[in-house]
Amino acid sequence: MVGDHHLYVGDHHLYIDGRWRAAGDGGTRDIINPATGSVFAVVDEATPADATDAIAAARAAFDAGEWPATPIAERADLLRRIADLLVRDKAELARIETLDTGKTLAESEIDIDDVISVFRYYASLAETESDRLVDVGVAGVISRVVHEPIGVCVLIAPWNYPLLQISWKIAPALVAGCTMIAKPSEVTPLSTIAFVRLCEEAGVPPGVLNLVQGAGSRLGTALTDTDDVDFISFTGGLSTGRIISETAAKHVTKVAVELGGKNPHIVFADADWDSSVEQVLAGVFLHSGQVCSSGTRLIVDSAIADRFVDALVERAGQIRMGDGLDPASKTGPLVSQAQLDKMNSYVATATEEGAVLRCGGGPPERDDLDPGGYWFAPTIFDRCDRSMAIVRDETFGPILTVERFDTAAEALALGNDTDYGLAAGVRTSDDAVGEHMVRGLRHGTVWLNDFGYYTPAAEWGGFGKSGNGRELGPTGLAEYQETKHIWHNTAPSASQWFTHEKDD
Ligand code: NAD
Repeated sequence: MVGDHHLYVGDHHLYIDGRWRAAGDGGTRDIINPATGSVFAVVDEATPADATDAIAAARAAFDAGEWPATPIAERADLLRRIADLLVRDKAELARIETLDTGKTLAESEIDIDDVISVFRYYASLAETESDRLVDVGVAGVISRVVHEPIGVCVLIAPWNYPLLQISWKIAPALVAGCTMIAKPSEVTPLSTIAFVRLCEEAGVPPGVLNLVQGAGSRLGTALTDTDDVDFISFTGGLSTGRIISETAAKHVTKVAVELGGKNPHIVFADADWDSSVEQVLAGVFLHSGQVCSSGTRLIVDSAIADRFVDALVERAGQIRMGDGLDPASKTGPLVSQAQLDKMNSYVATATEEGAVLRCGGGPPERDDLDPGGYWFAPTIFDRCDRSMAIVRDETFGPILTVERFDTAAEALALGNDTDYGLAAGVRTSDDAVGEHMVRGLRHGTVWLNDFGYYTPAAEWGGFGKSGNGRELGPTGLAEYQETKHIWHNTAPSASQWFTHEKDD
């Protein structure tokens, strides 16, 4: 067992207008290590007035500061300096992420590598952006479409991929020339605080990147119910996304919400067996299922269903759960007692609704896990259907449901029978069936014979209630830009609308 002696010491202040400071009312929050249930850090907890100060700092830095007009090459250089510092501090950042979220160190290291890639990608992309000339067919007129920073951005992130999710926002916002207020989840703020220190070291000018940590329910109004913000980028749950969208609408503030998912993983009888078993398991049980694109709905060909589910059940029981800092652990605990309560409640409901519990359904039967940790074993429910809450709702934990199909049309209908539309997987060795399925699935990312991968150069986002924005790729940069058309008449002459009236 790896104990809670890993106390994470240091100042965890707010960062506003280039200065680290305590919360206005001196408030703090205890941060819990999910593997032990013990406090391992204490961070400052912003007040709404602190959030308003952060917006004012970002507003001043945008309206009167130099960052929005800094040449793109210099902005890109800054992103590369941040990437270099992330490389330098990768081990420490990964350790913080594991202590904060409970995920394994190997997963945290992959997260930090991905964060580095995102900064490098946006540095390069911004340098290749160019104005667009439009031929309007009028002699002497030059018509150009240019991109400008959208302004002051509020960036709100969830707890499951704390640094990764906020970096998908900060990197494009910075390179676009925006100023911003970052608000990490109150559950997992530490890697973002450490990251903002790196940004300061890299030379991000005062006021450009501000940090307020604290509960969204307390800071939300100050951060979103205002005319001083130009764009809100939010990643989190559907109900919070609704609240933020409604508030933003009052101010006609642009908002992009990246929300939950209930992602189907569809396995045809002719799919490669070993990789299918492996990836269905990894797709749902990695990070104990606390992944927005987690493949929680197995939709499997009836011809192989019994055998396939048996294989999953056998392998699920072998997944080694443990403290993320222990190199032997393949998956960690849930992030909080609230998540644990939620899983227990879904197990009770699913059983009442007639689903058949094949494995898990509670804590693993092990005496070497810290009893204070939020442990919940990989769980599989067979014989599920869409009438069950466990199939409709985003459980956001290590619970796999099994539905069966007989035809491709049925598989497609089931895969699209969800309010969400974030991600989906299809497994078949028939290219024609694969192409038919990936084109028919109404989800923002679709994997064919693979699961869970993404790249900074390709857009990420959801159909349906999984959201209305896109992150990563060129569209992820465009979210932080205004588009302006400049019509330049290089040879003005008084020969237009009212000329003949003057002559009369
Ligand atoms: P959440 O909605 O509870 O919180 C997300 C963030 O919003 C936190 O920082 C929280 O403090 C803040 N917040 C809460 N109420 C607010 C308010 N009224 N105003 C402003 N901010 C407020 O979500 P969570 O539990 O932290 O994260 C899990 C959810 O995130 C899941 O639904 C998951 O699918 C989703 N998610 C989506 C993606 C994606 O790419 N689409 C990625 C990761 C997570």
